[in-house]
Amino acid sequence: MSLAAAMTLGLRPGIFYRGAKLCCINLLLTYQGGCAGNCAYCGLQRQRQGDFNQKSFIRVEWPTFPLDEIIARSADRTAAIDRICISMVTHGRAVDDTLAVAESLKPLEKFVSVLMAPTVIDKEAIGGLKDAGVEIGSVAIDAATEELFAKFRGQGVKGPHKWERYWQCLGEAVEVFGRGKAGCHLIVGLGENEAEMAGTIQRVVDLGANVHLFSFYPEEGSALAGRSPCDAGQFRRMQLASYLIQQGFTSADRISFDGSGRVTDFGVAGEEVAIVIESGIPFMTSGCPGKDKLVACTRPFGDGPPGDIRSYPFTPNMEDIAKIRLEMGDI
Ligand code: SF4
Repeated sequence: MSLAAAMTLGLRPGIFYRGAKLCCINLLLTYQGGCAGNCAYCGLQRQRQGDFNQKSFIRVEWPTFPLDEIIARSADRTAAIDRICISMVTHGRAVDDTLAVAESLKPLEKFVSVLMAPTVIDKEAIGGLKDAGVEIGSVAIDAATEELFAKFRGQGVKGPHKWERYWQCLGEAVEVFGRGKAGCHLIVGLGENEAEMAGTIQRVVDLGANVHLFSFYPEEGSALAGRSPCDAGQFRRMQLASYLIQQGFTSADRISFDGSGRVTDFGVAGEEVAIVIESGIPFMTSGCPGKDKLVACTRPFGDGPPGDIRSYPFTPNMEDIAKIRLEMGDI
């Protein structure tokens, strides 16, 4: 599970910076043989040095605990938890194991999400997840363009993943779980421009799925370890574009871009954009909701350290908004 989830369940000491709260327990299947994928930006990358159980998924540590202990702890802290997410990895046993984990979570009566591995799951198995009580199915397409996907997840790294299959799987998730009950992870800063990312966000929304944005952060030991984190301004503009598109205030074809593909106008009146920025909401973590409909999966400091917060796990305060405005630059 994520370090933040382990802290929430009292399995690791610590309190969150600025009182951030996590209401979703993020689980990740783990295997001796690891993940068959070789994604260039991922901490689980096959080619990375070291034993699989020593590798971390993303920026933060992912300690391993027995499932029974996770379930018992979750039952003890039931008031603090709204959702449990099972992240598959690309492994031959992952579908069966995900189903088994989902079944064993049923007595907790929590919302369950699954971050699916499209390379090893098919539509029938997605239906099986729904039957096992899963409410939301998500797909981490991650890269905004087919070219970047192939470069970092497919042929470029001798990886097994295919762009078409990932989109097809997202469509299957919408068909099985329903519109608004599927999610798509996208990473900003893998080399795409803002026009390309806005177009991909629009494609996800048109498909009936929700967008969960991440700011690229170089994983130690991964092929992209030496690359810079996503530019803060670029991430802020994409957070705002994603929010405005998902709320129906604009669409990718109403947003204007300069010659390098950077946003120059969101296609929404300036005063309205100002109100939306002031609310701080677009800059908060995007993820699956809890019972209050607010984001439960806040992933505190998962895509940037506390000194350089990218996805705010709480409502940004006035100082945060001033910083966000500076980062965003002139629009
Ligand atoms: S947003 Fe969070 S809960 Fe939803 S699929 Fe992604 S990691 Fe899981």
